[in-house]
Amino acid sequence: MPEAPAPHHTRTIRDANGLAAAGLVPRDAVPGLEAVQARYSIAVTPAMAALIDPADPADPIAAQYIPRTEELVTAPHEVLDPTADEPFTPLPGVVHRYPDRALLKPLLACPVYCRFCFRREVVGPDGGLLTEAALEAALAWFERTPAVREVILTGGDPLILSPRRLGAILARLAAIPHVEILRIHSRVPVADPARVTAALAEALAVEKPLYLCVHANHAREFSPDAATALRRLTQAGVVLLGQSVLLRGVNDSAEALEDLFRAMLRHRVKPYYLHQLDHAPGTARFEVPPEEGRALLRQLRHRVTGLAWPNYVQERPGGAGKVPLGPVWEVG
Ligand code: SF4
Repeated sequence: MPEAPAPHHTRTIRDANGLAAAGLVPRDAVPGLEAVQARYSIAVTPAMAALIDPADPADPIAAQYIPRTEELVTAPHEVLDPTADEPFTPLPGVVHRYPDRALLKPLLACPVYCRFCFRREVVGPDGGLLTEAALEAALAWFERTPAVREVILTGGDPLILSPRRLGAILARLAAIPHVEILRIHSRVPVADPARVTAALAEALAVEKPLYLCVHANHAREFSPDAATALRRLTQAGVVLLGQSVLLRGVNDSAEALEDLFRAMLRHRVKPYYLHQLDHAPGTARFEVPPEEGRALLRQLRHRVTGLAWPNYVQERPGGAGKVPLGPVWEVG
């Protein structure tokens, strides 16, 4: 019997009904998931929906984006704002935690909403687009803060801004003499590769070095469309780094991590960070203990090139920054 064609989605799915209509959750799950969607945003792009095998209850792409009712349960150790940006926010949209670098968050919307997101309490489709005045104030802060050598655009996802708007922000930052490098953190190249148009690539082709940290957690996210998007970015002179989160049910095996890091390298993405899960509310199902993470990385030793090796790090509570989690080896 011929296989049924995969459902083709042309618009981002943004609610429980849409997930059911696309066959990604059963109809009778809708009422429970509507309670989740009232608290945490849902978004599954056509690109990601197309990668999901609805017949596989353990599908690693579905695990990242399809909501579950247990998200409404907050474990005792989970905290509302794991990154604690607030005390380091001199003005809206700016986070200055370390002397030589600062974050600029031009918006808080993303192409997809990851169920394990550490900023899940603040990200959402209507969220946090800086007004022209607030953006101007933020850019002026960078201009008058000479200690800052690196500007990190994050959010939300800066690559969902229009190329015109993003290009204007980057050009302004690149023109600041003391700003040496620019960095953007984004899920767009894998989660919504159609957004990486020639116009967007052109907006990213600035004079200063631009590092793009591509957030990806599973090798299957590197679809042919993602490959095209990443190629376009490297051709624009963008340096690609990979960042991932160690996630139960997504990449919690040596094989899955090996495949992920190899997929990154094949697409000119250097694995940079593997994050330990932050304790955001309702994310307990993704937790992999650090001991297990270290053991997984030890298994990768000798199996993969050193180029595939990320820094395995944990964000310390209260905004104290990242610490490496190892693994360490006895040398003698
Ligand atoms: S793209 Fe990043 S900020 Fe947005 S929901 Fe996913 S993890 Fe959170």
